[in-house]
Amino acid sequence: MPKVKVNKDACGSCGLCVGSRPDVFEFDAEGKAQTVVEEVDGLDFECPFGAIEVE
Ligand code: SF4
Repeated sequence: MPKVKVNKDACGSCGLCVGSRPDVFEFDAEGKAQTVVEEVDGLDFECPFGAIEVE
């Protein structure tokens, strides 16, 4: 499966990823998104800040 990463420097803390896929994303203590898994079965949204990298 594709690997997923969050560039925390680019994350705008909008919550879209955490709200859409709580099985994949959560907020860290600073309110930035981070992944809870390393691989994802595809995402049906795009981060408005371009902070999510799927490869
Ligand atoms: S969708 Fe993008 S900007 Fe919004 S919380 Fe997730 S990583 Fe951060």
